[in-house]
Amino acid sequence: MRLKNKVSIITGGSRGIGRSAVIKFCEEGAKVVIWDVLKEDGEKLASEMSGKGYVCIFQFTDVTNASMIEKNVNSIIEQFGQIDVLVNNAGITRDATLFKMTEEQWQQVINVNLTGVFNCTKAVAPHMVERGKGKIINTSSVVALYGNFGQSNYVATKSGIIGLTKVWARELGRKGICVNAVAPGFIETEMVMSVPEKVLQMMKEKTPLGRLGKPEDIASAYLFLASDEADYINGAVLSVDGGMTI
Ligand code: NAP
Repeated sequence: MRLKNKVSIITGGSRGIGRSAVIKFCEEGAKVVIWDVLKEDGEKLASEMSGKGYVCIFQFTDVTNASMIEKNVNSIIEQFGQIDVLVNNAGITRDATLFKMTEEQWQQVINVNLTGVFNCTKAVAPHMVERGKGKIINTSSVVALYGNFGQSNYVATKSGIIGLTKVWARELGRKGICVNAVAPGFIETEMVMSVPEKVLQMMKEKTPLGRLGKPEDIASAYLFLASDEADYINGAVLSVDGGMTI
């Protein structure tokens, strides 16, 4: 019960890493709100969790839509009275090499991965500031630290996330809010399914632990940073990549 009664928003919670975090947070006693554009999967997960006796709801939320976020935040405050944790997990890829990347591919990724995180944090943080506490967890990536072929847009956003984390750790830290980032390695979700098998094999070989990560590996890091055990951790970037980056 490391998150007992903590009202936690998890963006991109319908599938992949987010889904795993939703389950873990529920099992640790949190009241979980799933924000995602994948309606069917999100509703199904919320109802599965509720069926097990946990408090879990789905709100259709496009993180690029600031007014939708504002409305959903207000409804959470009405229903639960507070927000304790925000996990900015939603993210997309639209890979192409520099010469082939279209402006649309560039902008889509910036909109979701960077502006989306800005929108959610801007709407949620004032409610945390009011209570003088809260945890914000952003999702960066191993590629932010080392770059990656064909991912100008994605790497720009994931590096930007590290910058935002440090700015907000300073701005919000003084108000009692901890802001940290997790930098996952290659994790077995739909997102990496488009990566060629040959590349994934290479990634495994570069990882001292000899395997790709599982969604639960990242969800556990989110859980730790959301818990009271991490009350003095602020502005950190936690690599969860099996040692790939050493
Ligand atoms: P995923 O399986 O693709 O799940 C991401 C979820 O976010 C999907 O349900 C997706 O819906 C949703 N989403 C997309 N756009 C959204 C929007 N505008 N508003 C709300 N939700 C939206 O991805 P994942 O692998 O679990 O990744 C989760 C996070 O970890 C991402 O930030 C990713 O960049 C990061 N990460 C992943 C890896 C990895 O290897 N998997 C490595 C490093 C970092 P749709 O399916 O409709 O797009």
